[in-house]
Amino acid sequence: AQTLHIVGGGMAGSEAAWQAANMGVQVVIHEMRPKVETFAHQTGNLGEMVCSNSFRSDDDEQNAVGLLHWEMRQANGLIMTTADQHRLPAGGALAVDRDPFAETVTARLKAHPNVTVSYEEITELPADGNWIFATGPLTSPELGKAIQAETGAEALAFFDAIAPIVYAESIDMSQAWMQSRYDKGETEEERTAYLNCPMDREQYEAFIDALLSADKTEFHEGETAGYFDGCLPIEVMAERGRETLRHGPMKPVGLTNPHQPDVKAHAVVQLRRDNALGTLFNIVGFQTKMKYGAQTEVFRMIPGLENASFARLGGIHRNTFINSPTLLDAQMRLKRKPNIRFAGQITGVEGYVESAAMGLLAGRMAAAEILGQELPEVPQDSAMGALIHHITGGAEAKTFQPMNVNFGLFRPVDGLKGGRRGRKDRYKAYTDRAKAAWQAWLSNFS
Ligand code: FAD
Repeated sequence: AQTLHIVGGGMAGSEAAWQAANMGVQVVIHEMRPKVETFAHQTGNLGEMVCSNSFRSDDDEQNAVGLLHWEMRQANGLIMTTADQHRLPAGGALAVDRDPFAETVTARLKAHPNVTVSYEEITELPADGNWIFATGPLTSPELGKAIQAETGAEALAFFDAIAPIVYAESIDMSQAWMQSRYDKGETEEERTAYLNCPMDREQYEAFIDALLSADKTEFHEGETAGYFDGCLPIEVMAERGRETLRHGPMKPVGLTNPHQPDVKAHAVVQLRRDNALGTLFNIVGFQTKMKYGAQTEVFRMIPGLENASFARLGGIHRNTFINSPTLLDAQMRLKRKPNIRFAGQITGVEGYVESAAMGLLAGRMAAAEILGQELPEVPQDSAMGALIHHITGGAEAKTFQPMNVNFGLFRPVDGLKGGRRGRKDRYKAYTDRAKAAWQAWLSNFS
């Protein structure tokens, strides 16, 4: 029988191993720790949580990450069932007692008759055999080089630069308008790719003051601050001079505000469509190290975004990830080398739960392939499906940045577009539809 090799025993690799082993496939996990360390991991355990101990909301009716919890529990997920076992009281969130959690993940995998753990660093993408690379945001530098050699330097990033992402429906279109700079773009899709929010001088000056005084996050130890040339945090740009942003991402040229055609804007904030569905827009050039609370406050000062809801806030982190929309097929195989799959944070999802989720899918897909089973596509209406569709196709490849699960990734529910029914009803409709779709997909596995 063929063996499945999984590189990296973090959130994604551990889950992938568990899923494949439970389908009867022999699995070897190759984990470099504790021999080779990262700046964030503290132990040699599999499934170590490197920072917070939270799996975020556990609400499976009103929250997309809670829905992902539910879907993973339905699939007998190792990460979720172990998290439940070591749950700490934390209101509606799922907080986890991290050391016993990782010890239990390690013990359950080691006790599995189909799993072997080999403590070694892998530094190549092998030409033969079945492999899943789940080496995470802190993929070892040697392996990073090998991946880059295969994918091209452009397609592997070592840092993310996440601009805040806004739900389209929460943007006030009586102030904002749709237009690409200098009306560039041939197709309808290109012409509807940008939204603009105008500022007069007073609004601009107040915005700069707010940026300068906002609370910022420090870089993690081991992250160097010299890397982000070309994608400076906006607050750093503002520190370089009060006019810098007006000559950079906020320049008011090539745009005419149809709401006030005679008034020349002092500055313009542009938002760019972030997914094919057109439900999400990112604020162009607004990567930031401002704290989350400060971000919502400062960004809601932008005319048109006073009531914005954010699918995700901005950030800049040390984070190794590939350009999945161009490199991977729908089964997370490297198009150029289909014996290799990627899973976890390196595929451009963000967070413990999302990473484990992509591990779960990769593990099942790889095992099915080894066993000669055909798998239908993961339904896009499930949280799992929404996420994998986003990274392997739905996301804009050119500006691809890591993504959390959120309802903006879901196809709108019929008749509920534009928030006519309350948000609560809408989220319930998404989660009901997702659960049914996910259970139908799981019924493909005996
Ligand atoms: P990991 O869990 O990192 O697992 C990857 C594994 O691969 C590691 O065990 C590593 O040792 C191993 N490995 C790497 N290279 C090799 C190699 N060449 N050969 C063999 N093994 C290798 N997410 C949150 O949800 N909440 C947070 O608070 C949070 N904080 C974070 C803080 C930091 C500093 C970082 C870097 C990330 C943080 N994240 C957080 C993101 C979090 O790391 C991921 O969401 C999650 O751990 C990723 O899962 P993964 O399986 O993809 O990677």
